[in-house]
Amino acid sequence: MRPCECGGMHEKRQGPLEIDDRYVGLLKLESADYYECPDCKDRIYPLDTARVIESEREKITGEILQAQPLDAFLSAADTAAQLGISRQALHKNKRIRQGFIYRTSLGGLAVYLKKSVDLYREKGDGRFLLSELGYNRSNEPFSTGRTIETVYSVHER
Ligand SMILES: [Zn+2]
Repeated sequence: MRPCECGGMHEKRQGPLEIDDRYVGLLKLESADYYECPDCKDRIYPLDTARVIESEREKITGEILQAQPLDAFLSAADTAAQLGISRQALHKNKRIRQGFIYRTSLGGLAVYLKKSVDLYREKGDGRFLLSELGYNRSNEPFSTGRTIETVYSVHER
């Protein structure tokens, strides 16, 4: 139990978890530990649950990107040119490395999603809700397959 900003208390829960993720859309876990405030539905994820969410988000992002046509992407050289920076600066950029531009690998080469490059150039963040790309993935819940320790870490708002 942990106090919530609304005045209620986060209660421990274990079971299927559905998250409306702002980048990949609906994200389902078969079973996860989490804490939820019954009043405002605010959730807190223990560290291991946060990690599973993150890895599932990456997996889904990769799947969606791999399903895009070749011409939806730019090479690293073209991406660097579009952003007016060197290729080296592109590879070293912390935000870009953290995934602020959607990137995948095609034939062993890193490629960058055009739409994401444009957004990044305009706003400094090239992430958007990937379901806008019109890819329908299967919605199988992701199995964690192990028990989760309870460590408070990520607080989703
Ligand atoms: Zn609350």
